[in-house]
Amino acid sequence: MGKMIMVQRGDALLVVPEDTKLMEGDVVLENPNDSRDVWERMYDAAKKEYHPEDVSPFFQAHHVVAAVESAKTGRIYTGFCIEGASGVMNLCAERVAALNMYISEKNMVVRRMIAFRDKPPVDGGGMPCGACREFFMQAAYENRNMEIMTDYKKRKIIILKDIIPNWWGDKRY
Ligand SMILES: [Zn+2]
Repeated sequence: MGKMIMVQRGDALLVVPEDTKLMEGDVVLENPNDSRDVWERMYDAAKKEYHPEDVSPFFQAHHVVAAVESAKTGRIYTGFCIEGASGVMNLCAERVAALNMYISEKNMVVRRMIAFRDKPPVDGGGMPCGACREFFMQAAYENRNMEIMTDYKKRKIIILKDIIPNWWGDKRY
């Protein structure tokens, strides 16, 4: 028997022979022949979401994309930015990725995160906005140790707690 790979397809985790034909949206989690590191797998998964489009005359989406790695399962979830004139559906890609993770596995603890537009983060790029920093701090105590990619080629990261000092909510944990 040949080597097996582990594939995430929607909510399902499949272990299949390595020569299995993969479907659109599949994420390969474990493959003995896969030389990509976790950041490259996250980048590859998220970049499929980059296709800026008008959802309606009022809504734009898919112009910023993100991937998060679950600290619980190691699975990778993607998200895209969506913004609308009503203001009630303005979500960054990072938050949509976290929401996808929560819907799938009822978990809000993220180990790693990457966000970008048409190119991977470079030279301090990929930094989450203030709303996302706050969101992740509130979503789970452990998220303060989340690694955030700021230079993909050089594999430079920053830790969430270092970009939201003196956070107000610690006493509730
Ligand atoms: Zn944000």
